Amino acid sequence: MKISFIGLGHMGAPMARNLLKAGHALTVFDIVKTNVDGLTALGAVAASSPQACAAQGEIVITMLPSSPHVKAVYLGADSILAGAARGVTLIDCSTIDPHSAREVAAMSLAQGNPMADAPVSGGTGGAEAGTLTFMVGGTHEVFERIAPILKHMGKNIVHCGASGTGQVAKICNNMLLGITMIGVAEAMNLGASLGIDPKVLAGIINTSSGRCWSSDTYNPFPGVMENVPAARGYTGGFGADLMLKDLGLAADAARQAKQSVVMGAAAQQLYQMFSAQGFGGKDFSGIINMYRKAP
Ligand code: NAD
Repeated sequence: MKISFIGLGHMGAPMARNLLKAGHALTVFDIVKTNVDGLTALGAVAASSPQACAAQGEIVITMLPSSPHVKAVYLGADSILAGAARGVTLIDCSTIDPHSAREVAAMSLAQGNPMADAPVSGGTGGAEAGTLTFMVGGTHEVFERIAPILKHMGKNIVHCGASGTGQVAKICNNMLLGITMIGVAEAMNLGASLGIDPKVLAGIINTSSGRCWSSDTYNPFPGVMENVPAARGYTGGFGADLMLKDLGLAADAARQAKQSVVMGAAAQQLYQMFSAQGFGGKDFSGIINMYRKAP
């Protein structure tokens, strides 16, 4: 298939590489030339703008930082909607707010281009390995059309419902992840300061009712698990600033829906403080250091 791919950063580049590996013909665009070069070296063709890129594809995929970038690339000057032929399906894999996702999808459809929001989980490791989870919002027909393409980049392709619901699933999950990580950090730190061996405490939690992904797969307390960011000074993994971005999206969506997210708002403030102290580039499990005494 002829696929246009726009946004070749940490996630987009490995996703695009997996499409090339699967034998698709790729036209690519990014504002950073070195990111484009990485793909053309593997056989992709470079385009000069989102418009020129979209004009080459039977399907257009975007993987951009946030809502303003998505709006500019789809609706601005030299945009995707200016270039895509009628009937070409558009897929935005960026994590953005559901309201913007629905707005861009409605404008695309009005021009004759069905669109899906398809944010991902699985991080850069999942993008590299082709094992991402895609949370897809759009019609059943669009889902059926794009699922085989997404299969080249992911393992779980889930139809969440109508336009925007992929983003809803993503931000609700990540808000809960931010909250549980802080909960585990508090419990582990309290236990350690009260004298229990953190490994013993983690073992109890992980076979008891406090168990969650943050405790049994990604424990933030150093020395409890190997091969997690806590074992390597909170480097690698999922950056605290990315978590902060997702908590902000959840808070904005909650405000629009007049829905309380008390714990989500508290988590957002804690990550804001962590980031303001200069740790935004650290893994999000490093939030435990907000609770620990300086060594
Ligand atoms: P990134 O910043 O590494 O990549 C974004 C790319 O978009 C960059 O190459 C940038 O040059 C390009 N870009 C920006 N503006 C552009 C424009 N106007 N036209 C063309 N290209 C443009 O970000 P990332 O880590 O790849 O994340 C992308 C999205 O995926 C974000 O929404 C993020 O929240 C989400 N996400 C990231 C992760 C992760 O672990 N990194 C995990 C899940 C979801």
